[in-house]
Amino acid sequence: MKETSIGQEMLDKLSYKKLNVFEEASSEEIKNIFEYAKGYMSFLDSAKTEREACTISIKMLEKAGFSEYKFGDKISVGDKKYLNQYGKSIIAFVVGTEDIAECGIRIVAAHIDSPRLDLKQVPMYEDSGMGFLKTHYYGGVKKYQWTAIPLAIHGVVVKADGEAVNVVIGEDDSDPIFYINDLLPHLGANQASQTLGNAIPGESLNILIGGLPYNDKDVSEKIKLTALSLLSDKYDITEEDLLSAELSIVPAYKARDIGFDRALIAAYGHDDRVCAYPALTALIENKDTSKTVMVVLADKEETGSDGITGMQCDFLVDLMDEISQNLGKNSRTVRSKSMCLSADVVAAFDPNFADVYEKRNSAIISCGTTLCKYTGARGKSSTNDASAEFVGLIRKLFNENNVIWQTGELGKVDAGGGGTVAKYIANHNIQTVDVGVPVISMHAPYEVVSKADVYSTYKAFVAFVK
Ligand code: MN
Ligand code: MN
Repeated sequence: MKETSIGQEMLDKLSYKKLNVFEEASSEEIKNIFEYAKGYMSFLDSAKTEREACTISIKMLEKAGFSEYKFGDKISVGDKKYLNQYGKSIIAFVVGTEDIAECGIRIVAAHIDSPRLDLKQVPMYEDSGMGFLKTHYYGGVKKYQWTAIPLAIHGVVVKADGEAVNVVIGEDDSDPIFYINDLLPHLGANQASQTLGNAIPGESLNILIGGLPYNDKDVSEKIKLTALSLLSDKYDITEEDLLSAELSIVPAYKARDIGFDRALIAAYGHDDRVCAYPALTALIENKDTSKTVMVVLADKEETGSDGITGMQCDFLVDLMDEISQNLGKNSRTVRSKSMCLSADVVAAFDPNFADVYEKRNSAIISCGTTLCKYTGARGKSSTNDASAEFVGLIRKLFNENNVIWQTGELGKVDAGGGGTVAKYIANHNIQTVDVGVPVISMHAPYEVVSKADVYSTYKAFVAFVK
C-alpha cells in the first residue's frame, strides 16, 4: 500500500476539486442514472412546445393524484393541485403540514419554452414552383443551424367559431417533414465570406411546404392552393384561421443517446425541459408531507419572461398569496420565508471553444447539477446574485443529501452573458439561486447533456422538496 504524505493529506482536506458523477457512482446508481434518462427522453419526445409540455405534465400530475386549481378555490393542508395558466405555464403545488409563516414555500422554477421558429400570421405563399411559410424566430437562435435539417410543425389553430385545433406534422415516421433551403457551396462564395450571424437573414428562414400544383389551370397560386386544400381536408381550416394560430417550427429529431457508451443525450429543447422534468418528477415522487412545495413550469423565458404566461406576470405571487390567505397566514411573511431554486440550464465548458470560458469557474459536463450564484453580463448587470448565506444553505442541503454538485458561470467575464427567471422571482422578496443542468451546444436545434447531470439535478430537487 502507498503511504499518503502529510502534504497530500493536507491537500485532500483543504482544497476543492470537482467530482465526476459517473466516477463516484456505485453500479446501482449508474443503473438509476441510465434508467432515469429513459423517462426524460420520452418526456422530451412528447413535449416539443410549452403547450405540449403542459399537456404531458398535467397527465403526469393527475396520474399522481393532483387536481386542477382555479383562482378562488379553497386550499387546505394536504392538497395536491396544479394551476394551468392558459395551457402554456403550470404551477403544481403540494400544501404541507409545516407552518408556512415559519418555513415558507419551497419553489423550483423551470421553463418549458425553447428557441424555435414561429409562423407569421399570414405565412403562406408560393414562388418558383415551391410553397413556403414565413417565420419569425423565437428566442436566441443561430439562424444558420436551422437550414437543411428535418423540421416539424407543432401548435394550435383557433378557427372562426373559436374551436382550437391541435396540429402536429412531422413527428410520425410516415409524416412528411418540412425544410429550410440553404445555398449550394458552388454559389456560396459571397455567403461564406459573411459573418455567421449575417449569412442567413431572418427573413430567409422560410419553410418549404410543397411543390404540387392544384389541378386547375385557371388558378394562379396552384401550389399554395394544394397546401390549403390539404389543410382544409385534414384540419378543416382556412388561410384566415392561420391569423389566429400559434404554429411553431421545431426540429423533427427525437431524443437519442450519444456516443459508444451512451452517456450523453442529444435532443431538441433540453433548455429547459432538462430542469422541468427533474422538478416535476421530484415533486410527484415526494412522500414527505411536511413542506409546502411549488413547481413552476414557465413559458416565455426565452423571450424575456414577459406576457401573461411568463415569470414577470403576477400569477406566481398571486397563487402564493392565495395559499397564504387560505391557511390564515400573512402573505408577506410567507414570501419572506420562502426560497426558490431557479432551475435553468448553464453553459457546459466545451474544449472545442475553450477561449470563451474560464475553465476553473465553468460547469464541467458530468460533474453534477450546477449552482450559479450569479448570471447577467458586463459587471454582473441584470443578475439575481444570490447571497453567500443562501448559497451556503443550499450547499449544506445538497452535501447532506449526497448530491454531487458544482458551480458554474455563463462564460468568461465580458465574453457575453445571459439571464434566467431568478431575478423576477427574487424581486418578490423570495430568496433565489440558479441551479440546473450543464448543456453543450445550448440553443442549437440539437443540444447535448449528460445523463449524470440530469440525474444529479433530479437528486438535488428531491433533496430540496422533502
Ligand atoms: Mn433556459
Ligand atoms: Mn435558453
